[in-house]
Amino acid sequence: MTIILKGAPVANQVKEELTAKISTYIKQGIQPKVAILRVGDKPEDKAYETRVVKNCEKIGMAIERVTVDHNIIMSEFVDKIDTLNKNPGIHGILIFSPLPSHLDAEIVSKTISPQKDIDCMSPENCEKIFKGTTTGLSPCTPLAVLAVLKHYDYDINGLNVVIVNRSMVLGKPLSMMLLAHNATVTLCHSKTKDLASLTRRADVVVTGVGRPKYFGRDYFTRKSFIIDVGINYAGDQMCGDVDYEAVAGHCAAITPVPGGIGIVTSMMLLKNVIQALEIQQTHLYQKYEEVSHGKKAIISC
Ligand code: NAP
Repeated sequence: MTIILKGAPVANQVKEELTAKISTYIKQGIQPKVAILRVGDKPEDKAYETRVVKNCEKIGMAIERVTVDHNIIMSEFVDKIDTLNKNPGIHGILIFSPLPSHLDAEIVSKTISPQKDIDCMSPENCEKIFKGTTTGLSPCTPLAVLAVLKHYDYDINGLNVVIVNRSMVLGKPLSMMLLAHNATVTLCHSKTKDLASLTRRADVVVTGVGRPKYFGRDYFTRKSFIIDVGINYAGDQMCGDVDYEAVAGHCAAITPVPGGIGIVTSMMLLKNVIQALEIQQTHLYQKYEEVSHGKKAIISC
């Protein structure tokens, strides 16, 4: 029997944990807050913003929406990010991408404070993922994949995982995060030869090619544990990269689309705001300790 790895129970559990944490913070006089920085009025960005705002409202997180003109020049955009970096009342910053081509994404990634970088753009956070250091912020989609594996109690220690994607949003960071959990990881892409022989040998297959129903039954076995990250449209119907109707029932487990990784990813973004707040609090505490110890050292001299 195939296990359907629904995202809702995972997302709901995270939602409950976040709601409780936020209420505790509010009692301590801290209102967790995320800033959403949007360039221009692209309908897909506005739709994404509406979804993020709705999720924030459900868990008691405050939001500051900052919208700038599509033609904003780089120096002004950097100033906007810097203002949000310096605002102690903002704990996480979400910058919608892709940015218009006249804005340098590399400079943006180096400008956003690594402590508020909830979408994991900054080189500092990326470096931490590749080093296996757990003190930074991680990208939301790989976090969602790990959360689903954990929720459904699937231990990947020593198992073979094939990821069909090598982007910075998914494949590269996820490979490092899975490696940190002792999986043996193979990264595949559009130039991989005989992909089906690799996916069929894997215990877990993560797909993220962005092609509707691309993976049929011949890519999997009855033992395959399938995580479908793809979000595509066949006509006006949302679907994943896996041909769900053909494959479900012929594998060990599969995430549906819609209703799988996507809703967990949305919650992971908000979880990152709280993680960011915790990192900022630790940093403040360390600074306070340094200053107070420094003072004590001066007094004892
Ligand atoms: P991307 O940058 O376009 O990456 C696509 C990857 O798939 C590339 O590595 C590409 O290989 C590979 N690929 C394309 N066609 C292939 C084929 N026929 N065989 C094998 N590999 C192939 O896209 P992305 O931003 O990573 O997003 C990927 C998908 O995930 C999209 O459907 C997106 O909507 C979805 N997504 C979902 C979530 C979620 O929360 N569920 C979040 C983010 C993204 P090359 O590198 O060789 O080009």
